[in-house]
Amino acid sequence: MEVDSTFFSLFPLSEIQQAALSVDVHFEQVGSQLNAQITLDGTIEVACDRCLGPFDLPVHFEDRVIAKLGETTDLDSDVWILGSEVHELDLSQPIFEFAHLALPTRRIHANEADCDPDMLDRLDGPEGGGDDEEPMDPRWNALKELK
Ligand SMILES: [Zn+2]
Repeated sequence: MEVDSTFFSLFPLSEIQQAALSVDVHFEQVGSQLNAQITLDGTIEVACDRCLGPFDLPVHFEDRVIAKLGETTDLDSDVWILGSEVHELDLSQPIFEFAHLALPTRRIHANEADCDPDMLDRLDGPEGGGDDEEPMDPRWNALKELK
């Protein structure tokens, strides 16, 4: 199954707008219990923490949903209870949640060279930056050209 922006647009509270994820669901029955092992692989578009520019972040996430047959449907507990009126297991909610769990807290371009240089200039005020590298003295550039 492939999951993209159409999927995430179904959820009004989605932090994710654009994504290209392949979702693999592996079902395993253990006694009266059904385990759905869900694996997400692909990219999610996020804003870079350093330059605020959007980029496709590679993600991989695995978790599972455990379901049991029961009297009354309850999809809020750790183990889902599926009542007799449920004929299909809808995994869109856990897939949506897992995609958000797959996002790391720190999201930056893997390579600083991919960051938007204009934005970095604007964001790097006199107070900010901290341990950023000192700008190179222009005289060094002249030396480089002598090589
Ligand atoms: Zn960036």
